[in-house]
Amino acid sequence: MELLKERIRKDGKVKAGNVLKVDAFLNHQMDIELFEEIGREFKRRFADVEVNKILTIEASGIGIACIAARSFHVPVVFAKKTQTKNIAGDVYTTQVQSYTHGKVYDIIVAKEFLGKGDKVLLIDDFLANGKALEGLIELVEASGAELAGAGIVIEKGFQAGGDALRARGVRLESLAVVEHMEEETGGIVFRGEAGA
Ligand code: 5GP
Repeated sequence: MELLKERIRKDGKVKAGNVLKVDAFLNHQMDIELFEEIGREFKRRFADVEVNKILTIEASGIGIACIAARSFHVPVVFAKKTQTKNIAGDVYTTQVQSYTHGKVYDIIVAKEFLGKGDKVLLIDDFLANGKALEGLIELVEASGAELAGAGIVIEKGFQAGGDALRARGVRLESLAVVEHMEEETGGIVFRGEAGA
């Protein structure tokens, strides 16, 4: 998605630890017109797939998922992050290791909002090692719902998550795949470009 790549190049900042900061338009300040384009692009890419629910993870997936849902005309469920050890109630739960904070946390979705008969599209902002998506997939599988696919705004192609999920047969669509990025120069090379 050219518009997105241009924006990443213009406003993205390469930080230590292979972290790309996109706080100017995606993760803190949010450019909703760009989100609308992103939502329409997800709809184009998943046009052949039946989806009746979007599942994301708090916090940064929520805004993107909500705008994308306007193109799919389906509700959004977000997995909640919690530190509660003994989770009461009727929930699906699993553990996820945070890429940006290093910590392990529980994620939960209430059973009433995910179950058999649901065809679920996962949406998230970033794909790095794939832990967040794997956690969401576990919740989908535990619920008996069907995984329709996963839509990612920015995949870091030099990290293992994307390849591992594709190898598992997950229908994965990433709108921008970063192949290289350099903290010193701020240079970013996307998949399909010279030098990738
Ligand atoms: P994974 O679980 O695939 O290793 O990491 C994905 C999650 O970590 C995303 O939900 C995202 O919030 C965060 N993340 C991973 N890499 C980056 C990055 O380079 N920049 C930002 N802003 N978040 C990232």
